Amino acid sequence: MMYSIEQRDDQLLGTTAAITYELSFDRAPQHLVKVVMRIEGVTSPEVVVVMPSWSPGSYKIRDYAGWQGNVRAYKGSGASRVATTSQWRDKAALVVSSEGASTIEVEYVIYAHERTVRTSHVNRFHAFLMLTSICMYVEGRTQEIHHVLLKHDRSLWPSVSTALSPVQSGGATGVLLGALNYDILADSPIEIGDHAVTTFTEAGAQHEVAIATNYNVDTDWLTKQVQQIVKVETTMFGGAPYDRYVFIIQAYPGAGGGLEHARSSVNAVDPSALTDKTKAVGLLSLLCHEYFHLWNVKRIRPKELGPFDYTKENYTSMLWLAEGLTSYYDDLLTYRCGFTTTKEYLEALSKDHVGRLFMVPGREAMSTRDSSFLAWLKLYMQSPDGNNRFPSYYLKGGVIFLLLDAYIIDHSDGKYSMDDAMREMWKRYLSDPSRGMSEEECYAIVEQATSVQIRERLISWLDGTTELPYDEILAGVGLKLEYADKPSEPVTFGDKRPFASVPQAPYVGWQVADVSGKLMIKGVDDGSPAAEAGFGIDDEIVAVDDRRVASLAQLDHYLAARRQQGARVTAHCDGRIFTTTVRPILRTIPKLVEIENPSARQQQMRDRWLRRNL
Ligand SMILES: [Zn+2]
Repeated sequence: MMYSIEQRDDQLLGTTAAITYELSFDRAPQHLVKVVMRIEGVTSPEVVVVMPSWSPGSYKIRDYAGWQGNVRAYKGSGASRVATTSQWRDKAALVVSSEGASTIEVEYVIYAHERTVRTSHVNRFHAFLMLTSICMYVEGRTQEIHHVLLKHDRSLWPSVSTALSPVQSGGATGVLLGALNYDILADSPIEIGDHAVTTFTEAGAQHEVAIATNYNVDTDWLTKQVQQIVKVETTMFGGAPYDRYVFIIQAYPGAGGGLEHARSSVNAVDPSALTDKTKAVGLLSLLCHEYFHLWNVKRIRPKELGPFDYTKENYTSMLWLAEGLTSYYDDLLTYRCGFTTTKEYLEALSKDHVGRLFMVPGREAMSTRDSSFLAWLKLYMQSPDGNNRFPSYYLKGGVIFLLLDAYIIDHSDGKYSMDDAMREMWKRYLSDPSRGMSEEECYAIVEQATSVQIRERLISWLDGTTELPYDEILAGVGLKLEYADKPSEPVTFGDKRPFASVPQAPYVGWQVADVSGKLMIKGVDDGSPAAEAGFGIDDEIVAVDDRRVASLAQLDHYLAARRQQGARVTAHCDGRIFTTTVRPILRTIPKLVEIENPSARQQQMRDRWLRRNL
């Protein structure tokens, strides 16, 4: 099967298409999009149209047809069309009888009211369209040019931001956009509304930054940072492999996450990321991540991820490459962009990467490769005790690439790094874009690009469930894990008077949430004091040593004082009360720190690894 996601705007200008979707928004206040799908050039007695069940990049079956309704099929088009028979073949595929007509139309509405980066969201003020959830495809005709006609009120919604290419300028009926094939259409979300759009040119390509939010944003500042990201990443890969790229940034309360596309990305953040300095760095790291994906996963990709089967799970064991590597690079690139200092970058690696992995008991239960393969049921449908069952391939995959990068730099005497491996994978993509990469091919490319043998080590890390060899590998770049907290300075108050001794909050191994005043256990770590004491998810903590607890602070306070002897905890489960003894411990999460008094070589390799100007 042919597969290509490459498109330039000039390829669509003035084209015609036999498959067109007219999208209208008269019922946007009810979160409805009306779709008229016109299929011309029909030569067979039956045409099968299918609604995708998932969106590439988000590995979960979402059954978008569940949000579809009022489906009607017609032969002919426009005013002269008449109803024709149709029948569902399965939950998402409709078989339409053409009855000899060369044009058929399928009309339906989509309820679009789920606000994430991978679902559509429409209301009276804007429309965010994920076309996998809006546009059915025609079986056997996905390689044709597809057009989308947006029929919205352009005085209310003047801005349209999408990687779909304009087909004609200033159309009277609406905004006509196009894709060279269905895969590109499915990969091109559209933001329509009154949002702000800024533009810049970098690496010889056009860039648009679409900022959809009700909040006040310093758009100039944000655009400058985005341009810096483009500059740093295109420099790493030797140019921009597109003519135009669209950054869609959505800021609304509680938002989070991103989704990558070939010529665009969707980045959702809480509005605090626009005003709080630390959170803003998180947004820039997300932008680095999703933008990096235009190379790694949209183009350099596991062989299972393109061409896609939109009807069911597309399994791959290689999300450690797609997401692990991208997670390693997002904070590294944030640092290279100058958004964080060396110290801040090392702290982020320690806290958000290595340290976080130490808090996941599931790293001992499942390999990273299996966690990737089962993403559809694990990461994307996490059970409440998922933290005990598997490590995220983002998290552990990222840490594995930190180790791999350090190993390559050390074992090539600083001559090569993961950057060289990435550039080699990029060359491999350019030599045959239609075909993805196998794991074997990936190992071979890394070894060829860096002259360092990594195959067996990398496989053992990806397949293993034992602790990674942090100190052995990281010593090469002058880093190590520190397991014990340094004794802290005595706390003083006033005129350097010693303060009272305050017990340190201990580790119990439960995650407790205050749910309307009830202290509910929402997670229990395998092997933890809480598990050994016999607590489970959804137990409600009532009292500690016969003292009623009503807040999380109170619970921590009571337990801290009872670390040595244990505390009697009274709890509620399924209508009954029980009491058991829990023995909290002091647990130290290892910190990633720089080796004191590094050798000249360690210092040199560390500087090589943290080089900003490539
Ligand atoms: Zn990602």
